[in-house]
Formats: sequence, structure tokens, C-alpha cells
Amino acid sequence: MAYKNRIDLHMHTASSFDGNYPAELMCKAAVENSLATIAFTDHFDVDFFERHNLDVRQKSSYEDIVAAKEAFADKIQVLRGIEMGQPTYDTALTEKSLARFEYDFVIGSIHNLREMPDFCELDYPNLSQENIYSLLEKYFEEELILAKWNGFDTLAHLTYPMRYIVQSGRFNTDLSRYDDVVDEIFKTLITNGKALEINTSGLRQPIGKTMPTENYVRRFKELGGELLTLGSDAHFTEHVGAGIDQGYEIAEACGFEYVTYFKDRKPIQIKIEK
Ligand SMILES: [Zn+2]
Ligand SMILES: [Zn+2]
Repeated sequence: MAYKNRIDLHMHTASSFDGNYPAELMCKAAVENSLATIAFTDHFDVDFFERHNLDVRQKSSYEDIVAAKEAFADKIQVLRGIEMGQPTYDTALTEKSLARFEYDFVIGSIHNLREMPDFCELDYPNLSQENIYSLLEKYFEEELILAKWNGFDTLAHLTYPMRYIVQSGRFNTDLSRYDDVVDEIFKTLITNGKALEINTSGLRQPIGKTMPTENYVRRFKELGGELLTLGSDAHFTEHVGAGIDQGYEIAEACGFEYVTYFKDRKPIQIKIEK
């Protein structure tokens, strides 16, 4: 039996530098997938503001989302979101950019360390395992800085670098050495009333798991976490809603009774039920 009122709160339109389809086609796919609520969250990597021409992209993204929201109003709830990448690397630009439009939902992400390329672009064959652990240590420190900054609604893909580390063949990379800082990240989210995202894109990639994995979702719950968002991170129509049911199963298995979406930057909890 299918879950009711399913949400998918992380997807990209052609306004993202790596997106492919207009919001309208993504909405059509979401309706065909029986999703009740979706959020478009185009990339805004603040440290790539000029390279990604974000001044222009942000406007086209927002206008495309609003047009689709109106066109599909009787079929699906469309939320106006944005994925802020590395917001803590330039908080002034972040805050100015967020104030430009009326967003329902803001995702906080770290895709790269300061002055470094995206984790997807690192030269893994030439990195030792110790190099990888020291990059991961810096990565989780940045996640904690992001959590403390607190200008977002959900913390995206907590174990993002693992997507590429596993893909490069480093299967034995063990994240348990970062458990203390992860606990601090979770406690910060919980104190601030922010959500944790289960990003299901890893399920269709070589890593084969959600980001973060179930053990982290369980730990978040143990520490008192209540707000969970789910997102496919679709960049193509065929991925809209992909893995969302597995995300619900993980949430349930970890003891969550609700998932959450954000409207006008405020959390709304939806009971998990079939
Ligand atoms: Zn991301
Ligand atoms: Zn994304």
C-alpha cells in the first residue's frame, strides 16, 4: 500500500546550472507519481555566484517555480524553495539573496570546502585514505558551522562526500570517527527547530544508500529530533519521487510518526500513514 500525502522537497529545474527541465515538466512528473507536495530547490552556491551567473538564474528559477505553482494549483502543492550551497562562506550575500524573493523553504548544503572544488570533482585516485579522512573532518566541521548559522530550514544530504568517495572505490571509509561532531550538529538542529533531510538520490547511485543512512536518522531521533524532510534531489523528470517510499520506510523504522514540509518558512508536519 502506498503512503498518503507523499512529499518530495528537493528537486532542480533547468534554472540550476546542472538542471535539465522546466518546473512545469517536473510538476507533471510529480502528479503522475502521485506526490501531494513538492518543493523546487534550485542551486544557489554562494561561492560560485559569478561563475554560475546566479543573479540571473535565481530570478529565472523563482519565476519558473511561481508559474508552475499557479498552473498546477488544483493538482499538487508546489513550494518555492532554494538550495543554498555553502551559505556560511558568504553570509551577507546569502541573506541578501534570500531576501530577494518569498521562499517557502530553504535547504542548507555544503558541496565543497572553502576555496576547493565540489566533492564530486576531487581527484580521488591521488588522495590517500588519510587525506580523505582529513577532508571529511573539515567537511563535518563546516556542517556544524552551517547548523549553527541556522538560516535554513533543513540540513541537506549530511553525508554528501560519501556519494563520491564510495563511487571512487573507497568502500571502507568509516564515518564513525565523526560521531561526536555529528551529534553536535544534530543537537544544534534540534535546539533550533530545524529539520534533517533524508536525500534519496544515493539509492539510484553507486553508493546505493540514502544520505544520510538510516543509522544517522535513528541517532537524530534518539537525540530528540522531530523534523524530517524527504527529497529525491531529482535533476530529471524520471527521478521525481524516486526513492521517496524507501525514505518513508526509513523514517518509520527509526520511530518517526511524521514527515515535515515548510511553507512560508514554517514547519508543517504530515502524519506518516498508508
Ligand atoms: Zn546538494
Ligand atoms: Zn540538490
